[in-house]
Amino acid sequence: MISPAKNLRWDDWTWQHGHACKDLATLTEWLEQAGSVNRMPTNVFNEITSTYRMGITPYYFDLINQYDDTDPIYRQIVPTVEELNISTDELDDPIGDENPARGSRPLKALIHRYTNRVLLIPTAQCAVYCRFCFRKRLVGDTAHNAREEDLQAAYDYIRAHPEIEEVILTGGDPLTLGDQALHRILKELDDIQHLRVIRIHSRLPVVNPFRLTPELGEIISSLVKPVWVSAHFNHPSEITETARKHILNWVSMGIPFLNQTVLLQGVNDSAEVLKELFLSLIEMKVKPYYLHQADMVQGTGHLRVSRGHGLDILKELQGEVPGYALPHYVQDRSDGSGKIPLQNQWV
Ligand code: SF4
Repeated sequence: MISPAKNLRWDDWTWQHGHACKDLATLTEWLEQAGSVNRMPTNVFNEITSTYRMGITPYYFDLINQYDDTDPIYRQIVPTVEELNISTDELDDPIGDENPARGSRPLKALIHRYTNRVLLIPTAQCAVYCRFCFRKRLVGDTAHNAREEDLQAAYDYIRAHPEIEEVILTGGDPLTLGDQALHRILKELDDIQHLRVIRIHSRLPVVNPFRLTPELGEIISSLVKPVWVSAHFNHPSEITETARKHILNWVSMGIPFLNQTVLLQGVNDSAEVLKELFLSLIEMKVKPYYLHQADMVQGTGHLRVSRGHGLDILKELQGEVPGYALPHYVQDRSDGSGKIPLQNQWV
């Protein structure tokens, strides 16, 4: 494993965040430091990133072993020319977040798809920009960040809907916000009587685990309502000693963890890799929750696996991992009506 220039502040999440690789010059420099070369012409790189930006934290780049598409980390995070192949059945909004026929996005910062839970989107910024992202149409675009008045409107909406029992902070990545901003949001939600649970969806435990500071853990565990954190590990090599240490520290503070995995070609599309991933997750007290069939996002055909192959993998895993370590294999419908459990097709 070869690292980009390590720094005395390597363990500081704000340093990792502020030093993410966002342009071709930095990517080329990091690859050269690692003894590799950039093979992508500037015009191709510019064409790809003009529609979907790049972002790689130094920590996550450091997990790459092989500097090409055969590496499961590289494949998830470094732009490739295949992203320019867009097929006619791929969509800009593949899970129908903004399908006007369903009206499930009543406010800029809020999506209300299921009766008793809502998504709250405080920021569109991420720590990294995953090449398979289902919200690539909006992530990283500051125009999609929620302003204070957007958040206030969302709190008012939640207060006026007593049927809402859970709020899921998502994005973008909510853990890219600073402690103060997060504390304000969590406190507002904690004070809404009819809410029972808060959830945070984040890739920071994977790509910048230093974000799981004891200080933020204190803020979360001081709330009255339980806050579940749903991480996003896709491959066993993402489960490092650093990630384990920070997650287990939050777990010891009473913060429960789930994990969502996206089934990705050339990353984790084998029973062997997924078995290792799921067993490693439960070892660090993280419950595998969903295995997502990759959405029909534009320019991601090279990363998708067929549903049939996904089901074959799940069948192989059935007797290999305990039931509580086997996630639900699901696919989001493109019209915005939610998830379909794919394992039902076995019946
Ligand atoms: S962290 Fe999540 S929202 Fe952000 S780019 Fe990756 S998959 Fe998309």
